[in-house]
Amino acid sequence: MSTVVLDNVSKIYPGGYLAVDRMTLRAGEGELLVLLGPSGCGKSTLLRMIAGLEEITTGDLWLGGQLANHLAPRDRDVAMVFQNGALYPHKTVRGNLSFPLEIAKADPTMVKQRVVELSRALHIGETLDRRPGTLSGGQRQRVAMGRAIVRQPSLFLMDEPLSNLDAGMRTELRMEISSLVRALGVTTIYVTHDQVEALTLADRIAIMNRGVLQDIGTPAQVYNDPATAFTAAFLNSQQLNLLAATVRTPQNQYIMLDFGPHQLTMPWTDPRAYAVSQHTGMQVIVGIRPDGLVPVPEKTEGPTFFGRVRTLEYHGHEWLAYLEAGIPGVVVPEPPDRRQLNGSANGGRARSMMRRLLNGSAAQEEEEPQPSSQSQSGTHRRADLVVRLGNRPVWRAGEHGRVAVDVSRLMLFTMDGARIDPPRR
Ligand code: ADP
Repeated sequence: MSTVVLDNVSKIYPGGYLAVDRMTLRAGEGELLVLLGPSGCGKSTLLRMIAGLEEITTGDLWLGGQLANHLAPRDRDVAMVFQNGALYPHKTVRGNLSFPLEIAKADPTMVKQRVVELSRALHIGETLDRRPGTLSGGQRQRVAMGRAIVRQPSLFLMDEPLSNLDAGMRTELRMEISSLVRALGVTTIYVTHDQVEALTLADRIAIMNRGVLQDIGTPAQVYNDPATAFTAAFLNSQQLNLLAATVRTPQNQYIMLDFGPHQLTMPWTDPRAYAVSQHTGMQVIVGIRPDGLVPVPEKTEGPTFFGRVRTLEYHGHEWLAYLEAGIPGVVVPEPPDRRQLNGSANGGRARSMMRRLLNGSAAQEEEEPQPSSQSQSGTHRRADLVVRLGNRPVWRAGEHGRVAVDVSRLMLFTMDGARIDPPRR
């Protein structure tokens, strides 16, 4: 078993592309850490640096307490599984599984026994004498996983191992990966862009965007108590309501979130009140999940929003309603894209940032603000409130609807997407 520590690790590809930007994180012994983020955010690059397949530009990698930046891949005791777990086509499943042990000159009786045990655990016991070409995609991926695990590495790296399988097979294999790596107790880093996979598999999830770590915590922590608006929106399978509000403190009696045509109040006894009051007079982003808005009768007292039901959407297991409430919406704030360091438009700035990165100094606070072609944090339109209705539509399109708002479940962010009240970790 191995701990993995990344200390301020960056990757700049030849040509000046900053794919991973000062990542610091730790995977504990036997932990299943999931790296989650949209395609192109740098997850595979990070995994490949841990495996030794990609050089680290700056920062340090420690494996099992040993500085590993310059260790050859074979000396890292790491096994990796890719999207298309490549197998030897001319060897049987048994041959594929036993090969890593044979080249390590393991005792043949032990090899035989290990292969049989592992094939049972992976539910491919009956395929041992078949060749990969005769197996289903799911079976092939099980063999690939078995081949990686068979010599019991200290660290197991998986790069989207389920993404080529159909939905049913993905769910099945996901559960098996979870129980297998936990039974073996091998530290595992697992890359995916699939939120459900991350939430169901992980001990902890590290969320990345544009090469930058956005948040890290247990699935419940990052889902219920996200550190950034990006995390909150990315982990929400339905659309997250991101609304602009101005913070007011009328006569210091309470805190008001002023959405224009609607207001919500927060008493001073709310644990978030002090942090929010620091933003008095400023615009903030309020995140509300579709299930945090509950349809109620028209005359309901207390915190509510109201509007015209624009449309209803049937999702099989539930209905969603889109309510026009006249509230300004906000685009998910993202970190500034500073990845193309050699871009011709800002080459001078890029070169100086690369120098600072290579010198190991934190560059962010020195950066001059750059005009953005697409203002990410601006309010830009009236939002439709997305409301979860359950399996029975209580409204019809065109009707007037009112929803109760659970103020304790509001998520509060600055306009650049950082949490106002610090998340608990
Ligand atoms: P992810 O795994 O999150 O989809 P990757 O780590 O594969 O992302 O890629 C991150 C970014 O780095 C992408 O924009 C990709 O185009 C770029 N990239 C990946 N490999 C190379 C390379 N060898 N040379 C230059 N850029 C690369």
